[in-house]
Amino acid sequence: MKKILIVEDEQLIAELERDYLEVSGYQVDIATDGEQGLKLGLSGEYDLIILDVMLPLVNGFEVCKRIREKYQIPILMVTAKKEDIDLIRGLGLGADDYITKPFKPGELVARVKAHLARYERLIGTKESKEEIRIHGLLIDYGSRRVFVHEQEISLTTKEFDLLYFLAMNPNRVYSKDHLFERIWGLDAMGDSQTVTVHIRKLREKIEMDPSNSQFIETVWGAGYRFRL
Ligand code: CA
Repeated sequence: MKKILIVEDEQLIAELERDYLEVSGYQVDIATDGEQGLKLGLSGEYDLIILDVMLPLVNGFEVCKRIREKYQIPILMVTAKKEDIDLIRGLGLGADDYITKPFKPGELVARVKAHLARYERLIGTKESKEEIRIHGLLIDYGSRRVFVHEQEISLTTKEFDLLYFLAMNPNRVYSKDHLFERIWGLDAMGDSQTVTVHIRKLREKIEMDPSNSQFIETVWGAGYRFRL
């Protein structure tokens, strides 16, 4: 069952949204301020977030930005002011849709459905696993071959595994330790520094400008992320 998080400080609105969504077959949690919304939203448990703009403690803009740094799930922003929509767009926070209050609950449910379906299609292409194509990069898992703008790139086994893992899980940040355990296994020789070395080599091979990575991004103090 799809899980939806509602971040809304107006209890009646939150409950109305929840009731309609539950009737439509979704599991729903409510956070009543921005801090709680952020905590739950960053848990990775939700498939979609409905986010009010004006919230106590942390406002909706900040919540959206912080969740978007970590997840690509659909975020629908709800605002009482139409002019906020231009503001939200202008800030480039990465919200997927905007709804102004008051809205018809049926409209909200329709948009939720549409965004979940769109996101599933996006994820679905990656779950087929056989082939990943992103911005001129082609990773063919079956033959373990990689192409950048039609040009084949030669990768070592570990370089391929690392690239494939990151590209399969785009926009998520993985620490060096996590990547090391994942790709090399716990009993392997070496340490997380090995990851740094492999990332550098990968960049030299697949990036047009290795110092300004288009694919593998360094998230300072946190690890690496593959950009979708
Ligand atoms: Ca509010």
